[in-house]
Amino acid sequence: MSELPIASPAPAPAPVARAALDPRPDLKAMTHAELAAWVASELGESRFRADQIFHWLHARGARDFDAMSNLSKPLRASLAERARIGGLALEDVMVAKDGTRKLLLRTAQGDRIESVLIPMDERITQCVSSQVGCKIGCDFCFTARMPLRRNLTASEITDQLLWAQHVLAEEGRGERVANLVYMGMGEPLDNYDNVVRSLRIIMDDRGQNISSRRITVSSSGVVPKLERFGHDVPVNLAISLNASHDAQRTELIPINKVWNLDKLIATLRAYPLQARRRITMEYVLLADFNDTADDAQRVAKLLRGLRCKVNLIPFNPWPGAKYRRPSPEAVDRFAQVLVDRGYTVTVRYSKGDDIGAACGQLDGNQVAAAV
Ligand code: SAH
Ligand code: SF4
Repeated sequence: MSELPIASPAPAPAPVARAALDPRPDLKAMTHAELAAWVASELGESRFRADQIFHWLHARGARDFDAMSNLSKPLRASLAERARIGGLALEDVMVAKDGTRKLLLRTAQGDRIESVLIPMDERITQCVSSQVGCKIGCDFCFTARMPLRRNLTASEITDQLLWAQHVLAEEGRGERVANLVYMGMGEPLDNYDNVVRSLRIIMDDRGQNISSRRITVSSSGVVPKLERFGHDVPVNLAISLNASHDAQRTELIPINKVWNLDKLIATLRAYPLQARRRITMEYVLLADFNDTADDAQRVAKLLRGLRCKVNLIPFNPWPGAKYRRPSPEAVDRFAQVLVDRGYTVTVRYSKGDDIGAACGQLDGNQVAAAV
């Protein structure tokens, strides 16, 4: 592990009491439509002003109203009086041997979260967090050791991308985030409104303008929310299947008791998929638990006819975990059964595990960095 010399000084976080009690609306958490409505009703200003403010916040990454140099001084003062710009403080940037960077970020209340930048084929994929902790409680996931502390706001989710672009710009190699995956800490569909709002902001062509084709949201299978999600935002969907039958899945993912495989797969069959898109079915491979050829056959049967591809994730260990990573042979055997039955299969060998940045190692606390 090393540290980037370029890590920017973190802006001092607002004092806890003030941040918690600040009643001013957070303009960075608003979609363009919400911001335009607020600018019209609160300031009596035109849509053009909303365009300018949105551009400053989401294209330029402005962190205070004073930076908005094409707005008049009185307008900036009026904005500062009535509104605030939320977000995160950047505390540190850790760099793994394989080039993966982990951004350590802090909320105004002092909670720490992580976001990971993964270099893949000359392009950078960013993995963002949606919650501090997670309440789904999956047995194999390190994040689950930490109870849900709170949902991240839309500005805190969006700010992970803005900080990443800032860090990459300072590195000076001309790199930018190309793909975004909501696979960090938290269950995105358990923080539905903020996640949907953050997606609308990030996809907006007046801001970061990241295409919906380049964004993937991963869920453990919160069925009622899934039914809405596909209609609300047309991004890619990944589902953590992780098991080949109900008893096995319930042991790993407690919500399977309520939304079992039948319900989940039926919902996915009805999911409004865009043309030429497929659902990614994620499957964490746990040695001697869900990695046999029989498991693979059951998975093939479960997914038959579903427009999907399968992403196998060999388990990433963390201290105290009761599962192990299967051998490469077991991974190949599992993959081959699916390939023989016509599935597209990829294996995700996680990056950045020397800095605790691999899937399921995020806990906001660097503890897994010791693995
Ligand atoms: N909460 C969402 C997204 C975050 S987890 C979800 O569960 O889908 C992202 C992916 O990492 C999920 O597919 C999850 O099953 C996987 N994962 C969690 N812990 C892991 C670990 N220790 N090793 C490998 N993959 C893990
Ligand atoms: Fe939450 Fe996903 Fe981890 Fe399960 S795997 S505890 S849903 S973050």
